Amino acid sequence: MYLKTVEIVGFKSFADKTTIEFDNGFTAIVGPNGSGKSNITEAIKWVLGEQSAKSLRGAKMSDIIFAGAIDRRKAQYAQVTLTFDNKDRALDFDADELSLTRRYTAAGDSEYMINRRPCRLRDITELMMDTGIGRDSFSIISQGKVEQIFTQKAEDRRGIFEEAAGVMKYKSRKHEAERKLNHTEENLHRIYDILSEIA
Ligand code: ATP
Repeated sequence: MYLKTVEIVGFKSFADKTTIEFDNGFTAIVGPNGSGKSNITEAIKWVLGEQSAKSLRGAKMSDIIFAGAIDRRKAQYAQVTLTFDNKDRALDFDADELSLTRRYTAAGDSEYMINRRPCRLRDITELMMDTGIGRDSFSIISQGKVEQIFTQKAEDRRGIFEEAAGVMKYKSRKHEAERKLNHTEENLHRIYDILSEIA
């Protein structure tokens, strides 16, 4: 499995539809300062569910929409699609190709899609968990991240190994199961209370 293309429209400096193709190997993106290299990695993180405007170097989410230029009106929406080659079925999805899309309009509407079909962010997060390509995974090492890894506490650093070892998915499912158990227990207590009142 590998990332084949990133299609960007209306996201940050990418006013026009731009498709970036990657090979199954090593790709380097070079360009002058301010030409949009970091915007590409941010576009990828954004599709994978980044919710923090600050992490995308903005103050609010609408800052990711192309803000206009002297000769260009601002965009009405931002949309990014990542297409993965999944011939080896490394992603738990029965198709040779998988595309993930996120769209955000100036009105504040947000939409996610898997292979052009609307889905929840959670569907994308679960699909990418433990693949090494998640929003918080270590396939995207931003500036300052290396230093952060070396200086963080041992238990925080453990997260890196957990992601690499593929246990994050199970941790997340355990957390969800515990949440449901607690909820059910609360409901049970309520039922016992009602029962004791009417008994
Ligand atoms: P460096 O090499 O200095 O790190 P870079 O190639 O990574 O630069 P980016 O940081 O990706 O460049 O791009 C910054 C550019 O993106 C700036 O020119 C900035 O004005 C532009 N930009 C950011 N947000 C928007 C937006 N919402 N609308 C239009 N342009 C934007």
